[in-house]
Amino acid sequence: MSNVGRENFYTCDACGAVMVTVDVDEGTTPMLIDCRVGVCKGLAQSGWYAPKPKMAGSATWEWYRPAKKTTRGLSTEDRLHVSLGGLLLRPRSEGGEDVST
Ligand SMILES: [Zn+2]
Repeated sequence: MSNVGRENFYTCDACGAVMVTVDVDEGTTPMLIDCRVGVCKGLAQSGWYAPKPKMAGSATWEWYRPAKKTTRGLSTEDRLHVSLGGLLLRPRSEGGEDVST
C-alpha cells in the first residue's frame, strides 16, 4: 500500500513535541528521528500513520526522495538510507506544494 500523501507524526521523548509529517514520495521512513524542535536533542518516535493528535496541526515536514544528482551532498548515512529506498525529511516550505499559496 502506498503511503504517498499520508500524514504521520513523531512524538519527542524528551520535550513532548509532535512533528506532523507527510509522505510526498514512495519509500520508507524511519521509526525514530532526531527532534527538530529548537535545540532539543531528543528522539522522536513514529506514530505509525495512526490518526494524529488533535492539537498537532497540519504537516510542517515532508518525506521526499532526493533526485539522484543531489545525493552527492548527503552524508554517507543518508546516502545509504536513500539507496535502500528510504525517504529524507525536509521542512514543508522548501520546494513543497504549499509554496504558491
Ligand atoms: Zn524534542
